[in-house]
Amino acid sequence: MFQKMKGTYDIINDIGYYHAIEKAVHNISRRFNYEEIRTPHFEASELFHRSVGEETDIVSKETYDFTDRGDRDVTLRPEGTAGVVRAYIENKLYASKKSPQKYYYLGSMFRYDRPQKGRTREFRQFGGEAFGSDHPALDAETIAYAVMFLRAIKLKGVNLHINSLGGDESKAQYEKTLKAHVKPHLGELCEDCRRRYEENPLRILDCKVDADHEAIKNAPNPIESLTDDDTENFQNVLMYLDAMGIDYTIDSTLVRGLDYYTHTVYEFLASSELLGAQRSIGGGGRYDKLVEQLGGPATPATGFAFGLERIVHLLKHSDDFTLKQQGIHLYLLTMGERAKPYALRLAHKLRAGGINCETDFLEKSMKAQFKQSAHNKARFVAIIGDEEVEEAAVTLKDQREKSEETISVNHLYEILRQRLRHDKKGA
Ligand code: AMP
Repeated sequence: MFQKMKGTYDIINDIGYYHAIEKAVHNISRRFNYEEIRTPHFEASELFHRSVGEETDIVSKETYDFTDRGDRDVTLRPEGTAGVVRAYIENKLYASKKSPQKYYYLGSMFRYDRPQKGRTREFRQFGGEAFGSDHPALDAETIAYAVMFLRAIKLKGVNLHINSLGGDESKAQYEKTLKAHVKPHLGELCEDCRRRYEENPLRILDCKVDADHEAIKNAPNPIESLTDDDTENFQNVLMYLDAMGIDYTIDSTLVRGLDYYTHTVYEFLASSELLGAQRSIGGGGRYDKLVEQLGGPATPATGFAFGLERIVHLLKHSDDFTLKQQGIHLYLLTMGERAKPYALRLAHKLRAGGINCETDFLEKSMKAQFKQSAHNKARFVAIIGDEEVEEAAVTLKDQREKSEETISVNHLYEILRQRLRHDKKGA
């Protein structure tokens, strides 16, 4: 028997949570004027090397790379931003008359990481990207979009941690400061960190091996290396967040594990212990250089991504979120030969009008069909036998009210609609 690959899983019982999240994503995205974009699950490997960064854990250790039959180097996407930026450039979306240009995505990402609680090899993300403005109000609005999404799914106990890396000058200054700080301890750090020290010092800060080393725990704060302009920019982002009443914690340890970030970076951390060490449910920031770096015109941009699995895990344990009752509206219970085509015709008509129906396909007994109606959580059962066919009627059982009546088929649709509407109002 085949088994699923390590680090992957089937979404079966939890699908309702994903549907609820996806519904909120589409709904909130419209409010913030984001359009959906769907990019391929695989891209040229080079795209991720040039954007996420050679020295990041994601690219150096976690990508699913392969050579396809045409001898191309291909990578399953480990994150969404690189593909969206590639699409933005390739489709000349920067020429759009709309400004800023805002896109959101939903879909699977792939990282060859050690599977553990809250960490799988295929996971799903919802992300948003806004292009064409370096205004701090756009950073704040992007964060507001993320916060509004969390509110729409009623996920509480999430804290926004925020920091700034600044632009090129500030980042260069910080790298210098960090190198000076780390240098005396270099011999105690892992081989990767010693290489990062030369090639990309910032990545030392997200090393998993040396995370507890004093030199890393007490690393200097990037905010202290910001130029005056970059400090002002960060203060403005905070001012706009304040204006919207969005709470945050300034977190000097936050640098984010991808190379393309500049200026404001942030993460959403769950306060609950449910996720163990993987408390981050999402993160994002500005990436003003990436579009140009990947061959497009210089275009400032900012975005975020949430991990859906971790969110689902939190929702499942939350008292604030209740999944809508799953089940069908009507089970058509049939007895006798004539009832079958009659029931199928009726179901077809009702379904066209928006009623969710099921019926028997196994010639089961009446008792067994009643059991089926219960397994399907049917709100109503329509019993159809010879007599009903003769009289163009059904015997309708209301499973909630525990009542039963004979109804002409001509009235069935209206009656079902009315009662379902009533249910909705009462819910
Ligand atoms: P990142 O792109 O690493 O900043 O990830 C953004 C979000 O995606 C994280 O906050 C997690 O919620 C989620 N995520 C990242 N990697 C994984 C993984 N291996 N398994 C499950 N969720 C993940």
